Amino acid sequence: MIAEILCVGTELLMGQVLNTNAQFIARRLAALGISHYHQTVVGDNAERLEDTYRLALSRADVVITSGGLGPTVDDITKRAAARVLGQELVPFAEAEAMVEERFREYGKPMLPNNRSQTLFVPGTQLILNPYGTAPGGIVPAGEGKFIVHLPGPPRELEPLFREQVEPWLASFAGCVLVSRYIRIFGMGEAAVDEALQDLELGGNPTLSPYCSTGEVMLRLTASAEDEQAARALMAPVEAEVLRRLGDAVYAVEDTEDGSLAQTCVHALQEHSLTVATAESLTGGMIAAELVTVPGASEVVRGGFVTYQSVAKTMLLGVPEETIKRCNVVSAEVAAAMAEGARARLGVDIAVSATGLAGPGGGTEAIPVGTVYLGLATKEGTRTIRLHLAGDRARIRTLAMKNAIHAVLKTVTP
Ligand code: ATP
Repeated sequence: MIAEILCVGTELLMGQVLNTNAQFIARRLAALGISHYHQTVVGDNAERLEDTYRLALSRADVVITSGGLGPTVDDITKRAAARVLGQELVPFAEAEAMVEERFREYGKPMLPNNRSQTLFVPGTQLILNPYGTAPGGIVPAGEGKFIVHLPGPPRELEPLFREQVEPWLASFAGCVLVSRYIRIFGMGEAAVDEALQDLELGGNPTLSPYCSTGEVMLRLTASAEDEQAARALMAPVEAEVLRRLGDAVYAVEDTEDGSLAQTCVHALQEHSLTVATAESLTGGMIAAELVTVPGASEVVRGGFVTYQSVAKTMLLGVPEETIKRCNVVSAEVAAAMAEGARARLGVDIAVSATGLAGPGGGTEAIPVGTVYLGLATKEGTRTIRLHLAGDRARIRTLAMKNAIHAVLKTVTP
């Protein structure tokens, strides 16, 4: 199988934009073991683009295009391909729904010419785009050949290529792609990057980071003739990543759909342990996150939202005197909250969180972002002091995730 890269855009020809898409796609093709002998850049000129399509289809099985999928008149990539194939562009309902949803999300009006983004040659397999407004597509070009259209912005093209085009190319080329997902907590993206930057990967397998608040997920992907060979390529890299990141890794899975809460709930299930929550600044977020996991009812008994001090005393039996003496944001109060929840609900583990989410109210001794977690078990009670950075929403989310991580570490130290 032979692929060819065709990048569309006058800005590339003029040297205003560096053609990083060609480099990215070329690297990925090499990693997949797919031959590619030609790359072309064409400006926004229909005739020259059509000529280039004809030439590319005469010598390659798959022509991968980048750019020119937008709604403006100079976005001609799909129209030129249709003309070369002797086809008309027709609206695709699924593409329409996607474009409409994206505009709703961005809070912008959808203009009539945005409809052109939903037009494709009949028989196109759509590449729905969660990262932008232009869907791509895999277009049958006759004689078992295909044209793959991808949007120009690299932050759209790269994930779409990895997630949707690579699996298709791999099956076309008769190989399989296998991924492993390495989940990391308590280590920022920069620290993960630094720990792994000198890892020699040579293109196959590849390692890509995905970040969310407080978490990093690494996707390790290998291509090979069969699953076993792909796993053999990944195994030494996975072992080295685990060795370097140590305790920060909390799960390594075959699926992308995991979460910290899922790992925690599964660990509680495996050890037949029950949990309860006592929450102040998180206002129920810890319990809410745990019960997103199907089957959580086996292990999550319940929780207390005790926001004002009086609720901590009434519902959890935290002594008023402790709150006055130590401050409501203190290790002593976190411990008493967890112990109160554990005694009242009779669970194996109770986790508590009390802290200052801000933006106001910070002092030198207890600045905004100070959070205490309490963990009460039959072995005793321990507390954790956190210094979290960010706005109110981020501090609360991080407090919730740290609490769930602390429960996980209590179950599987
Ligand atoms: P959209 O509708 O989202 O703009 P599009 O497919 O119409 O997508 P273009 O208008 O062709 O994309 O390009 C949009 C931007 O993407 C360009 O201004 C440029 O910054 C970037 N871009 C396009 N092609 C490339 C490329 N080959 N390499 C790197 N960046 C590119």
